[in-house]
Amino acid sequence: MIAIVGAGPVGCYVASLLAAKHDVLVVEEHKSVGLPVQCTGIVTQEIFDFISGKHNNFIINEVNDVRIFSPNNKFISLKLEQPDLILDRQKFDLYFFKLARKKGVKFLFNHRFISRNGSKIIVKNLDSGRTKKFKCSHLIGADGPRSIVAKCSGLYNKRKFFIGVQAVIKKKNNNIIDFYPFKGGFGWAVPENNNTLRVGVASLTNPKNYFQELLKKYPGKIICKQGGLIPLFDPWTVFCKQKTYLVGDAASFVKATTGGGIITGLKSAELAARSINHNINYDALVIMKLFPSLLLNLKMRKTMDNFTENDWNDLIKELNNPKSRKALQSINRDRLFSLVFKSFLNNPKLIRFGLK
Ligand SMILES: Cc1cc2nc3c(=O)[nH]c(=O)nc-3n(C[C@H](O)[C@H](O)[C@H](O)COP(=O)(O)OP(=O)(O)OC[C@H]3O[C@@H](n4cnc5c(N)ncnc54)[C@H](O)[C@@H]3O)c2cc1C
Repeated sequence: MIAIVGAGPVGCYVASLLAAKHDVLVVEEHKSVGLPVQCTGIVTQEIFDFISGKHNNFIINEVNDVRIFSPNNKFISLKLEQPDLILDRQKFDLYFFKLARKKGVKFLFNHRFISRNGSKIIVKNLDSGRTKKFKCSHLIGADGPRSIVAKCSGLYNKRKFFIGVQAVIKKKNNNIIDFYPFKGGFGWAVPENNNTLRVGVASLTNPKNYFQELLKKYPGKIICKQGGLIPLFDPWTVFCKQKTYLVGDAASFVKATTGGGIITGLKSAELAARSINHNINYDALVIMKLFPSLLLNLKMRKTMDNFTENDWNDLIKELNNPKSRKALQSINRDRLFSLVFKSFLNNPKLIRFGLK
């Protein structure tokens, strides 16, 4: 049996991919899937590589207009050729849960994975406090940023996190995504619909101060607040050891520029399933398929963290010309290599920011 810890989208997806060949058990500490929501739910069209068809109940908005702000409150406006998609995260997670259940995956809710003893995993019923043991051939940690599977298996390493805080706000809006990059983090306002915005900040330090400042730009009734950790991708994390695999946030597979982890997480689920189903080395697959983009995002994050406020102001000014805008608008940001390359090609002055 293969045991998977975590019934988030990545855990359920990898379970669904393994179920044809293996008995699969998913252990989840919550009583159901998808709650609490701790996500803004913005993804590119690349999501269609993982879901079937356009007919679903979880894509709740499409947004073509994006503004990127500099500290002096100037911004560059982009009209994306392919709109970004906004998800209802609970329904999105349920989609992958149902997919896995349909393929015969078994779920054990309200149970927390607490440790392992060789090939046995130990889980605790959160009502009765009783523990159970299960023997498994493979263990997959899909248990999010603070992965206990990683900790128990010596795969945790020293992790750094963005602290994410977000408010859902009743506010009329024009269906535009606002993005506020800053040293050590970024802020956003993402429209759920014409009357509701998801406004938040993710920062390595002090998110509350940035968050309070950002909220002043979007006054409105706060419906709810959410928060959570976003792991900073660490290329030195070992994500596979003796039939133990880490996927998604548990492996820190998150883009360091935007905190986006849904698509890279689902990609890692496919790689883990391929590795187990076809006996291919998972590390090699991840290094080939995920590392180029994750490393480039990390490099860009580190570069951006060296920027002064003036650098940011200058960069947004430099990008604000038709050629650069055209390059930015035409490329999916999940394909960052081509985005950076095309931007530099269209505006060689940008290379000074790259050099920095
Ligand atoms: C504020 C915020 C905004 C975000 N916005 C975006 C965005 O707009 N776009 C994007 O792409 N990404 C975004 N992300 C990141 C995205 O939410 C994650 O990358 C994604 O949820 C990762 O999925 P996962 O399945 O790996 O982990 P998770 O969704 O975290 O699922 C892990 C599951 O494991 C369970 N679990 C944990 N420990 C145990 C245990 N010991 N035993 C049993 N079960 C356990 C948890 O209950 C949970 O259900 C955001 C994150 C935050 C915090």
